[in-house]
Amino acid sequence: MTYPDYQADLAYLEQYRDDGDENVRLLEPLLAFRLSRAYRRSERLRGFLRIESAGRTRDAQQYLYDGYKRGDAGFNLAANPDRIIGSRGGFTFRGSWHMAQEDGYVYAVDLTRKPYSLSWDDAHDDLRASGLHTTVPGEPWHHQASTIKGPLPGPFPDGTTTEDEMTPELEEKLEGLATWVFNGTTMILKRLDELEQQLATTKGDDE
Ligand SMILES: [Zn+2]
Repeated sequence: MTYPDYQADLAYLEQYRDDGDENVRLLEPLLAFRLSRAYRRSERLRGFLRIESAGRTRDAQQYLYDGYKRGDAGFNLAANPDRIIGSRGGFTFRGSWHMAQEDGYVYAVDLTRKPYSLSWDDAHDDLRASGLHTTVPGEPWHHQASTIKGPLPGPFPDGTTTEDEMTPELEEKLEGLATWVFNGTTMILKRLDELEQQLATTKGDDE
């Protein structure tokens, strides 16, 4: 489900990459449409907001996960690429929102404030106006245009716009989101438990 200016929007977004190696070419069409629209309409976003993480291939996710599992230096908590996030209309989302799904697209983008003179509140005002929403509590940088429940409120390439107000439909979408966040949190807590046990064991074996 792409749209006529999709490739042009991807090319436009490349100038807003933070380090220049962020792979914006993987962004799903609605996310690319809304993010490029947000930049075009907001001078302060163009001036002070950069794309920090646009997405990674499944292989890259596997690499991060393997390194994390082995406990290699420099590897942080990374999601198992096979873990199921949720499904929508027969399509199953796996691994991480930042991992390319089986349709080849990434469904989340992490943004960063450079050089930090922009508040997240101001950034969020401009981003939400174009249909980009924070979807993970405690991560003001993480944005999506859609979730496992479908598109979040905002403009579409065909010119239609959904109202940004709480409708029963949106409530249902957010409920699904809460479930996903809960599952993610449960995974992390379980992992923390494991680490705690490992530490206890190591201490016992140690000098
Ligand atoms: Zn993120």
